[in-house]
Amino acid sequence: MLLLNPGPVTLTERVRNSLLQTDLCHREPEFFDLQDEARKRLVAAYELDPAKWTAVLMTGSGTAAVESMVAGIVPEGGRLLVVENGVYGDRIAQIAKQYGIEHEVVKYEWMQAPDIDAIVAMIDAKAFTHVAIIHHETTTGRLNAIDALSRACGERGVGLLVDGVSSFGAEAIDFDGGGIVAVAATANKCLHGVPGAAFVIVRRDALTKAASRTYYLGIARLAKLQDERNTPFTPSVHAYYALVEALREFEDEGGWRARHARYAALAEQVRAGLAALGIESALPPDESSVVLRAYRLPAGVTYETLHDALKAKGFVIYAGQGGLSKSLFRISTMGALDASDMDRLIASVAELVR
Ligand SMILES: *Cc1c(COP(=O)(O)O)cnc(C)c1O
Repeated sequence: MLLLNPGPVTLTERVRNSLLQTDLCHREPEFFDLQDEARKRLVAAYELDPAKWTAVLMTGSGTAAVESMVAGIVPEGGRLLVVENGVYGDRIAQIAKQYGIEHEVVKYEWMQAPDIDAIVAMIDAKAFTHVAIIHHETTTGRLNAIDALSRACGERGVGLLVDGVSSFGAEAIDFDGGGIVAVAATANKCLHGVPGAAFVIVRRDALTKAASRTYYLGIARLAKLQDERNTPFTPSVHAYYALVEALREFEDEGGWRARHARYAALAEQVRAGLAALGIESALPPDESSVVLRAYRLPAGVTYETLHDALKAKGFVIYAGQGGLSKSLFRISTMGALDASDMDRLIASVAELVR
């Protein structure tokens, strides 16, 4: 079965086999070597200066990393502006509410791009200390324009928190070009690991001001202990094995730029193939990520029909979220997939719509 959902992804044999390594106690030096290698490779993935940036690992899915980032990096007394144009922006707003963080939400329709000029005007008018935005809003496949927002935040001394869960490893992220203070992500999307390990890439100076609103996901404590080759709790050891192997493979294959190019080629192949069958992209390619694209369901075909027919051929596609479930379906090209897989996918769709 090939997974075309936005994570977990189809594994390479190399990563799958890494799960079969020796049993490991998380209080032994062998585990801390693994943790150190994962952290080092995550910082190196975007060629960051380890004196300025660190990777904080945790056990959980991508949401754990987003929650750890929001609950920790907005300091006591901080004011957060949340940009929402999809499910994941809404999730950050819920996290802020749950922790009692003073915040406002600037909402856009799920098919719409955020208006960066209007957001900057809001920052100026209302003295926010932090802004949170989704980089790749997986709800629609839209790649939000974080660079312009990051520059504006940087000029104002405002910290930008980025949910990079479905972009880290495959899209450009200009960590040092503006106001980014933290990016949350996970092992099992563009990095091709397994679910269970998540992380935040964070500026060390932001950690010194971090709040301690959460116990298990407390980012400053996790960072401090990990720097001391320690861990507060039992980590998902096997997920760390897979993450480290996936990061070695990522480097061997040419890092994020090569992954970007590979995903872009696959996404374009799918777009062109579906377009030839009369199936339209929901967003123009230049507004979309290379990681996932949303498509309009062909007339007279329900998502369930399409899903079940493709599953019978060995492909798992993904529904639209919320109100978009009746009109859209989504195809992600993350994971161990190649052009011949996409040819078979298009042929399978062609069989159904003819
Ligand atoms: C997948 C995803 C998440 C996290 O989802 P989990 O199910 O917790 O892994 C968060 N944000 C975005 C943009 C995502 O695509």
